Amino acid sequence: MIQIKENKNCMGCGACAQICPKNCIEMKADDEGFLYPVVDKENCIDCNRCEQVCSVLNTSFVPKEGFPDAYLIYDTDSEWRKKSAAGGGFAAIARDFLKRYNGVVFGAVYDSDYNVYHTKTDSVDGIKSIQKSKYVQSETRDTFRMVKEELKNGKYVLYSGTPCQIYGLKSFLGKLSEDEKLFCVDLSCHGVPSPKVFQLYLDYLSRSEKSPIATFTMRDKQYGKNNYKQGFGISFENGNRQFNSHPSDYFGRCFWGEISSRPSCYDCHFKTVWRSADITLGDCWFFNSFVPSEQDTMGVTLAFTHSEKGKALLESNEFLCRYTVPSEKLIKVNGGMIYSSAEVHPQREEFFKRLKSEPFETVVDSMLPKKPKSKKNQLLDTLERFGIRLEKLRRKNRERRINALLQRTIPDNALGEMK
Ligand SMILES: Cc1cc2nc3c(=O)[nH]c(=O)nc-3n(C[C@H](O)[C@H](O)[C@H](O)COP(=O)(O)OP(=O)(O)OC[C@H]3O[C@@H](n4cnc5c(N)ncnc54)[C@H](O)[C@@H]3O)c2cc1C
Ligand code: SF4
Ligand code: SF4
Ligand code: SF4
Repeated sequence: MIQIKENKNCMGCGACAQICPKNCIEMKADDEGFLYPVVDKENCIDCNRCEQVCSVLNTSFVPKEGFPDAYLIYDTDSEWRKKSAAGGGFAAIARDFLKRYNGVVFGAVYDSDYNVYHTKTDSVDGIKSIQKSKYVQSETRDTFRMVKEELKNGKYVLYSGTPCQIYGLKSFLGKLSEDEKLFCVDLSCHGVPSPKVFQLYLDYLSRSEKSPIATFTMRDKQYGKNNYKQGFGISFENGNRQFNSHPSDYFGRCFWGEISSRPSCYDCHFKTVWRSADITLGDCWFFNSFVPSEQDTMGVTLAFTHSEKGKALLESNEFLCRYTVPSEKLIKVNGGMIYSSAEVHPQREEFFKRLKSEPFETVVDSMLPKKPKSKKNQLLDTLERFGIRLEKLRRKNRERRINALLQRTIPDNALGEMK
């Protein structure tokens, strides 16, 4: 039976729990708030299926020549694009999929208490809840079993999630994962923060505003004339609103401060250039350096295709604007998280320990203080508030950053896939 010796070797995909014929594995939260399988030994029949299905235990790196095809894409419907995390690539793929195949789409949503879990929809309206990144680990619950049922009933299925969830699903499905009716979309994945830390943060927000939260998004967009800013957008039932830039937000500081993600994310098993998914999606931050004729005014999604059916889903998609771009350059400039794991904060253990007895905001302020903006950026922001945008200087800064990123080497142990 499955035994977790080191936490970093379990990504919490839930495949073992869903395969168990006796339903004797429960996914239970540990002290940090991450789910791990716990076996009811009384009812276990030692069939070993849980170990056989674990993709951490049963996949290893296989080198592969070349790179997947790369695209920059965005939803041509600006309302969908604006409401997505990046360019709305996912929403366009999902809508086209529903229209073309009359199938079902699985992805991550919030419940009314902002717990994140995977669910199924067969409607365009349902796509609205799945779109946009939720930077918290999503529970797969019984969705792998649901996918199996749908495929067996002859339905087309599109499943979206983190790379480890897609590996978990495919391993769970076994031979059925080769079904032509199954399409999988994964992400360039930084890691998944703890649901417990997220709930402490939400509690802090309501306490400090003395009001329940009305709406919440981690990828809100505020639009200027030719540009936009991204941050956490929160509205409260008392009518107040907050827009917090990612580096200034309390939860943003935990996530990008590398202190709150799942242990497996700091040594991720699945950070390879090729994936078992059909398409990988991510954020594109330097659109103009790939497509000089156009500015990014609302977000752009980067996409890699790993199969012919993934390619077909992108190339004949009626909702997408699409550019083919050089893969290696795109990975180096935008896709660091495709092939490298985040480096863990040295005080991660202390962080979780202190959260047990101290207020969330006290711990974050003392361990992850806000970083002041550089003088140059402060000046640029001030000028922009007065409508002056020093485009030449910004372009020069961007070019310097891109040149530095292009010097990066993709390690040999990422130039392939896990099989
Ligand atoms: C935890 C996490 C970490 C990420 N890290 C990076 C990164 O380091 N670099 C990068 O370029 N991009 C990263 N992304 C992807 C990025 O945020 C965008 O989702 C991506 O650019 C696609 O944008 P979009 O506008 O096309 O689609 P979106 O509107 O973002 O579509 C949402 C998609 O993300 C899935 N999703 C949302 N939340 C979760 C979740 N908690 N678990 C599993 N699936 C989820 C949905 O099912 C759907 O498929 C990350 C996403 C998540 C969820
Ligand atoms: S990685 Fe997935 S299958 Fe493996 S032990 Fe963890 S939850 Fe189970
Ligand atoms: S060995 Fe079989 S019965 Fe026991 S927990 Fe694993 S899958 Fe379930
Ligand atoms: S970083 Fe790796 S282990 Fe963590 S959620 Fe992403 S794919 Fe899974």
